[in-house]
Amino acid sequence: MLKAQIPSIALEGRVDLHCHSTASDGILSPAALVSRAKSQGVTLMALTDHDTVAGVAEARDTGARLGVAVLAGVEFSARWGRRTVHILGIDVDPASAALQEAVALRDRLREDRSVRIARCLEKRGFPGSLAGARALAGDGVLGRPHFARWLVESGYVEDTARAFKRYLGAGKVGDVKVEWPQVEETVGTIHAAGGSAVLAHPLKYGLTRTRLRLLLEAFRGAGGDAAELLCGRQNPVQTRELRQLLDAVNAESGAAPLRCSLGSDFHQPGQPWRELGCVHLPADVEPVWAARRP
Ligand code: AMP
Ligand code: FE
Ligand code: FE
Ligand code: ZN
Repeated sequence: MLKAQIPSIALEGRVDLHCHSTASDGILSPAALVSRAKSQGVTLMALTDHDTVAGVAEARDTGARLGVAVLAGVEFSARWGRRTVHILGIDVDPASAALQEAVALRDRLREDRSVRIARCLEKRGFPGSLAGARALAGDGVLGRPHFARWLVESGYVEDTARAFKRYLGAGKVGDVKVEWPQVEETVGTIHAAGGSAVLAHPLKYGLTRTRLRLLLEAFRGAGGDAAELLCGRQNPVQTRELRQLLDAVNAESGAAPLRCSLGSDFHQPGQPWRELGCVHLPADVEPVWAARRP
């Protein structure tokens, strides 16, 4: 069981343990997000903004009013070798000193990265992106999606997908390197904050099967609790392959087996493939909320 007492009724509706609000790169405020989740039939959710828990209190207030169980969550950026991976902390204590320190560190790394991204974009002939992206982020954690939206609003590119494809995505000018804390350290932070560490969207790192297996093994070895079997609507063939991979990794001796989690990775309305509550965990896998490290 997760630390929070989840009323059994909360598991009778849809579960969504991965979504974003205006506290990071989502479009809806935490309150609007929880209202929307309610209308989608979600009864248990975790707000998992990028590198912040600033939206959690508002989300929980709304959840209490509407009858949606809202767990405190976060999506931490972390480093695995030269790659960036995302690790969800589910049911964390937002006031934990370890967590606050990890958030503050990433805040500094993001600040530094934003200046470098803006410099790169300026060299490409797009001056003023830092102020522009900051204005779009408001009080929220500043991320590449805000630069993408600014490029669109400034008329430099047709949509955010193209902004990533041309300027911000992997290997492009705005994809500047960041020394995020390592996976082991990040799992440790989440555990220190009393949460479960979940490897987010394993299929979205563009890894070969062999490399993905190495990542899952490394995550399990680092003490990770679960992996997202489902993140948004997925190709069922890929889901089956991921399940097989997880079974194979869990069959190895070593740390406790990885359980399964699920979420939409909702950022904004109008993307039906990642609508709140859009995925269902198969009945025959061990869900992340079924058991927890002592
Ligand atoms: P950041 O954490 O600031 O590096 O931004 C990562 C976020 O950018 C992801 O969580 C997505 O929300 C978004 N993102 C990444 N790649 C793309 C893409 N190709 N198209 C649209 N959004 C993307
Ligand atoms: Fe995001
Ligand atoms: Fe992510
Ligand atoms: Zn996410």
